[in-house]
Amino acid sequence: MRLSRAYIPTLKEVPNDAVVASHILMLRAAMIRPVGAGIYSVLPLGYRVMKKVTEIIREEMDAIGGQEFHLPALNPKEIWEETGRVEAFGDILFQIKNRDYVLAPTHEEIMTYHARRTVQSYKDMPQIWYQIQTKFRNEPRPKSGVLRGRQFLMKDSYSFDSSPEGLDASYELHDKAYRRIFERCGLKFFIVGASSGAMGGSGSEEFMVASEAGEDTVAHCEKCGYAANVEVAASNVTTLPRYEEEKACYDISTPGVKSIDELCEFLKINETECAKSRVYITEKGPVLVLMQGNDEVNETKLEKAVGVAVRPGHPDELKEITGADAGSIGPVGFKGRIIADNLLLDRNMLFSGANKNDYHTGGIDLKRDVNDIEYADLRIVESGESCTKCGAPLGVFKAIELGHIFKLGTKYSESMKALFLDEHGAEKPIIMGSYGIGVERVMACYIEQNHDENGIIWNKLLAPYQIHLIGLNMKKPHLAEAALKLYDQMKRLGFDVLFDDREDAQAGFKFKDADLLGMPVQIIVGEKKLAVGQVEVKIRKTGERMDAELVNLDKEFLNKLLEKADE
Ligand code: ATP
Ligand code: MG
Repeated sequence: MRLSRAYIPTLKEVPNDAVVASHILMLRAAMIRPVGAGIYSVLPLGYRVMKKVTEIIREEMDAIGGQEFHLPALNPKEIWEETGRVEAFGDILFQIKNRDYVLAPTHEEIMTYHARRTVQSYKDMPQIWYQIQTKFRNEPRPKSGVLRGRQFLMKDSYSFDSSPEGLDASYELHDKAYRRIFERCGLKFFIVGASSGAMGGSGSEEFMVASEAGEDTVAHCEKCGYAANVEVAASNVTTLPRYEEEKACYDISTPGVKSIDELCEFLKINETECAKSRVYITEKGPVLVLMQGNDEVNETKLEKAVGVAVRPGHPDELKEITGADAGSIGPVGFKGRIIADNLLLDRNMLFSGANKNDYHTGGIDLKRDVNDIEYADLRIVESGESCTKCGAPLGVFKAIELGHIFKLGTKYSESMKALFLDEHGAEKPIIMGSYGIGVERVMACYIEQNHDENGIIWNKLLAPYQIHLIGLNMKKPHLAEAALKLYDQMKRLGFDVLFDDREDAQAGFKFKDADLLGMPVQIIVGEKKLAVGQVEVKIRKTGERMDAELVNLDKEFLNKLLEKADE
């Protein structure tokens, strides 16, 4: 493609509302343009990448026996009513006004609709059906560009099996295919075992990449691969021992002291000697939660330990329950359920609130002074703590979900009556799995992981063009002619070449654009080098430059350059 004729409107400035690297670069490199909140047009350069990603996905899905469908995005609402998911999706589901249609946010219903008509015997299975198609979700906070759009492209596949073992096999095939897809795309990913959320069923994995733009926080061990959402993640932390010294509880006047920091400053003690109190309200009454002073409550773990939903108490509720305000609450004399974090197990000589304002209690022995105290893991795991599996330090960071595989079981086949006859002629619901990959997320995550201050750094498989040919001084006929000849020659050899043949653009401007667009190999045709039969080659990733003889630019040489650019 000749840049002088191409529609690649690059932007010099960082667009106002973009913060995340991939969003900024996809806008600046003219891959996408917004049309509305969370709605994007993919421009020609971006679409070339999209097609490369979908082709990799398609090859790997075909390799596991997947058969490609193209289902309608516009769905009769009555099919969605069979599974109760019009309600389950709520406002996320786009509905057509005055018509009984919805715009599909996923396709379990439609695939099950087809299966129930045609998959009737155990002999008809296993089946893996997939498509690469547009999804619609009225996301409440569309942000970070195409990472969270209201319309996006998804590869979604569905497996149909007659036995749980069959489902396991289909799930395994997807697990392997997903690893190959993300590896081929050049993504550094890790896998988190997850709950399957609104989809139902049991057994699921999320394929994630670390990114500041992510909305999930995960703990990950690089050494053994352990990864979990911090909502459930565990770590090994050493418990502090009991003091030998015993003291009766005593009240200390602490005027104006509210936070743990202030208490430690005031009493010249360490945070780990404090039992931090938090009051939560549940349908079964208030619960006092005790944490070691330097730790925060993980509400997901707390709900699991308590067994019902929890919410932090309001200031007036705290006063009514304990007689004190937030900074002065403690376990001694507290009437109600008390749950403490494991790190406080049987500890003594602790400081906490005295349940009267401006007073704290010292010398607390949880074993001696607090009746019926329960213990559970309630902490939020922190970076650097050791992995419970292998002991190596854990990293805690934000991450984005690229893909998700889950065992649906019979949730959809039961509600939609997709039944089959087994070997003994008994009627049973089909056992299903569902598997998704966000195509735009693959593109954006690749950019999140592969860019520098100058722009995108494509690998040879995803690059919109493999080679960026930069012609300098294109107004001079002999230079223009030489560059054009090289362009034609490389195209004939089968390479995708973007040729900057613009006459009016300055050299510096062309170099900046080439770095921004990020093709793996740049070849520069300039006056001086051309005079001695040479061109300059630049590897985008490393910035390495070298001279090459024009006569040597054959297929083998160019392929070697592309290999080098991927190293
Ligand atoms: P999230 O928790 O990020 O909203 P999800 O759990 O809703 O994701 P799934 O329903 O499992 O996602 O969809 C499968 C894949 O589709 C996701 O792994 C992700 O890559 C992609 N995806 C989901 N929602 C969006 C969106 N709003 N924009 C772009 N891609 C999306
Ligand atoms: Mg979602």
